[in-house]
Amino acid sequence: MSFTVVLVGRPNVGKSTLFNRLAGKKLALVDDTPGVTRDWRSAPAHVGGLSFTVVDTAGLEDVTDDSLEARMRRQTEQALERADVALFIIDARAGITPLDRHFANLLRRSKTPVLLVANKTEGKASQPGMFESYELGLGDPIPLSAEHGEGMADLVEALLPYAPPEDTGEVEEKDDGFDPSIPVGDQPEPEEDRSKPIQIAIVGRPNVGKSTLLNSLLGEERVLTGPEAGMTRDAISVDWEWRDRRFKLVDTAGMRRRARVDEKVEKLAVADSLRVIRMANVVVLVVDAAAILDKQDLTIARLVISEGRALVIAVNKWDTVDDRAMALRQVEDKLQASLGYIKGVKVVTISALKGHKLDTLLDGVLETYNVWNRRIPTAQLNRWIEGVLEHHPPPLVEGRRVKIRYVTQVKTRPPTFALFVNKPLDLPESYQRYLTTHLRDSFDMPGVPVRLLLRKGK
Ligand code: GDP
Ligand code: GDP
Repeated sequence: MSFTVVLVGRPNVGKSTLFNRLAGKKLALVDDTPGVTRDWRSAPAHVGGLSFTVVDTAGLEDVTDDSLEARMRRQTEQALERADVALFIIDARAGITPLDRHFANLLRRSKTPVLLVANKTEGKASQPGMFESYELGLGDPIPLSAEHGEGMADLVEALLPYAPPEDTGEVEEKDDGFDPSIPVGDQPEPEEDRSKPIQIAIVGRPNVGKSTLLNSLLGEERVLTGPEAGMTRDAISVDWEWRDRRFKLVDTAGMRRRARVDEKVEKLAVADSLRVIRMANVVVLVVDAAAILDKQDLTIARLVISEGRALVIAVNKWDTVDDRAMALRQVEDKLQASLGYIKGVKVVTISALKGHKLDTLLDGVLETYNVWNRRIPTAQLNRWIEGVLEHHPPPLVEGRRVKIRYVTQVKTRPPTFALFVNKPLDLPESYQRYLTTHLRDSFDMPGVPVRLLLRKGK
């Protein structure tokens, strides 16, 4: 059994490009001739273990000479009727146009579930469009670059809840032995993960001690360190073992070299970090004890979370701190104020130079990695949601209560849950946040992003 995904959106947002990518074609029918009548294109798509039929509505705008809006409305309505889920595509570079809003209104009223996709998000120019797109009231946009093939994993993740169960590749009720009454660190680890190395990235501002940490961890002078920030170094990816676990370290060093010299150091460090964050499972954010969690540190921390990675903070140069109690309080305050939405991030104070507390740091990495891989059986999740609904049901919206049907974990790394409700748009954001926090607390998932996807479901 397959399911059908339709691509909708105004002309030029990239529907055909996405269609070609999903259908695995090099280039089909990008038709520049005005007035050409074209049938809907549909093709089988196989992406990230997911199989579905993709339908493209591009090109139909040329069929008649009605107003553009009228034509769009008609074809979109027809396409929606046949689909299990619609991808509403906007051009993040162009921002939200009146025609996009028109579409959004149409789509909000449809019975077909809609996922918002912000295309053309490669590079920085797309950010305004991403933020604007929240106004459309269709939830979080999925950032994508159809042309460059970026963001496909997130797209697949978002589509997963709509796939018929046999197509998801996920084992529904596999119990990994997780027992909520046992502290996280003491949980048995899932068998399958031991074979793969844990990919760790070490990120942070220049001069906080990343290279020194790398050297200490590996016990060798592999990486040059020095007091001058931004020294040129080689890219490094090293495998090593610690307590029978395999690790792979990826470092930003060397990638720096390729960056243009006229870029500001700050921008550069962030872009640099992003690349390495995407390669990692767990990201160790190294901060300097003398300047704890400044703006740039927090930017990187947020990036780690928004990229769905597990985060551990290493407060380095702890050997230089006199008032340790005060320094720790500062860290806690900053975390609470700026990263409060992700409770329980592991903070380890270390001295990379002296090799102090590196075992504690690696313990923290392992622990966080295990949480990131956590799978919670659907039966437990549904018991949980029943309890929540009993004690703290969603608020009434215009006199009616949104019906929450069930919840299931669609993915690990990070733990991602789909909540099926009759009217996803009527579930207030504050309540969604409440659920996410409650879920995190109930199943003990500190320090990792926990994602709750709202899905329309019977
Ligand atoms: P459609 O009319 O919605 O089917 O849009 P097309 O797929 O024909 O794309 C319109 C234009 O946007 C073309 O010039 C594409 O090359 C371009 N485009 C599509 N996807 C991307 C992307 O991810 N990034 C950028 N920068 N351009 C894109
Ligand atoms: P990177 O730019 O983040 O890779 O930083 P480096 O590893 O090159 O370190 C920058 C400077 O901080 C060097 O002079 C290190 O010797 C020093 N440093 C690194 N870790 C520590 C530490 O734990 N304690 C102290 N006192 N100095 C450190």
